[in-house]
Amino acid sequence: MSSQRELDTPTFRLAVGQFDQAADLMGLDSNLRERLKCPQRSLVVSLPILMDDGRVEMFTGYRVQHDSSRGPSKGGIRYHPDVNLGEVAALAMWMTWKCALVDLPYGGAKGGVAVAPKKLSRAELQRLTRRYAAEIFPLIGPDKDVPAPDVGTDAQVMAWIMDTYSQQVGFAVPGVVTGKPRSIGGSLGREEATGRGVVCVTLEALRHLKLDVQNTTVAIQGFGNVGSHTARIMHESGARVVAVSDVHGGIYNAHGLDIPKLLLQYRQEKHSLAETKLGDRLTNDELLQLSCTVLVPAALSEQITERNAAKLHCKVLAEGANGPTTLEADRVVQDKGIFVIPDILANSGGVIVSYFEWVQDAQRFFWKATDIQSRLRDLMTSAFQRTLEFATTKRTSMRMAALMSGIDKVAQAHRDRGLYP
Ligand code: NAD
Repeated sequence: MSSQRELDTPTFRLAVGQFDQAADLMGLDSNLRERLKCPQRSLVVSLPILMDDGRVEMFTGYRVQHDSSRGPSKGGIRYHPDVNLGEVAALAMWMTWKCALVDLPYGGAKGGVAVAPKKLSRAELQRLTRRYAAEIFPLIGPDKDVPAPDVGTDAQVMAWIMDTYSQQVGFAVPGVVTGKPRSIGGSLGREEATGRGVVCVTLEALRHLKLDVQNTTVAIQGFGNVGSHTARIMHESGARVVAVSDVHGGIYNAHGLDIPKLLLQYRQEKHSLAETKLGDRLTNDELLQLSCTVLVPAALSEQITERNAAKLHCKVLAEGANGPTTLEADRVVQDKGIFVIPDILANSGGVIVSYFEWVQDAQRFFWKATDIQSRLRDLMTSAFQRTLEFATTKRTSMRMAALMSGIDKVAQAHRDRGLYP
């Protein structure tokens, strides 16, 4: 178990604060409450990496398994300079509730390395990834703990992890990671899965609120995997995406951005959004405060805070990112009557299609894109409807309803299995 001091970071406090609120509402037994707050296993590794200029630089990596009572633990790997043990533990805890909420037979985990991946050469990134994979090797495996991409990592990073693991055991093990390339057992539809899922539950919310998608405007913070696919699929669904941003700032067009053109220019030329000249420039702060139907934070945690929550002007907040809203901001957002699709529901499309990939790898039988899309839609629509019904019946928020449903399933697994020894 990790020391409480190392875990005590703002993101971990946010995850535990949400858990405490849900546990209070559920009247959760105090013994279970203590068990579910602490991550089951935390590994911190030092990574000496040979840089291209001949120096050896040290990096720190983490893998946290929050809970594995319902199956192997599952969760992404983040490469970002601010990664720390508390953040990884918080993200692992959210994975536990998310997998239970959408009925996947998984526990929650997360990993990360404190590094700015864009500052490394491809060779340095590969050496870092392989050393990290070798250090966390004892913890991972298709039946133990299955990593996936998150901020700063992608299919290539997953391929290097799969190869490093397979080299150690002496045969190809595709099921050790998800989100890998198709050539080594990746699934159709995984790359866009989180964005597709965000759109799926957003359309459900619009239907519930009797809002017409053709008159819907969307603002998206973050234009990486989640943000860019959300923008594309929202645009394809008939909504007007009026603003998008990345770490350097964003662009705005009240008539709707030309998303296909924007994606082409942004990806091919690796330009900043502003340089595409497809809209007026705006800051990340301005984007969050835009008057729009749907706001999608799809970057990092704690973006909607006490400082800006009162200035939000959206009807629906669809949390593509994990933990984008602080506890204090959550109260303000609720008081304003904004319909929140909480992170563990809104961004669960990623882990759902990761699950499909893991199942396909185990079966050695691969599904069609249409099967993946329709199964994803089925799971997400029913999770949305169950959460909405729970929130309505229990007169609570969508966030509390989602957390309570997830936590309840994990608590039941603990009760049924009992306390070892
Ligand atoms: P990514 O690395 O592909 O993209 C992150 C984006 O956020 C980039 O456009 C980056 O420029 C932008 N960004 C970074 N810092 C920012 C800041 N301070 N302000 C504004 N923008 C900033 O990452 P991703 O995979 O798209 O993940 C985004 C979020 O979604 C994270 O919270 C992640 O945990 C969550 N998520 C991702 C997945 C997945 O399948 N990739 C699944 C579930 C949840």
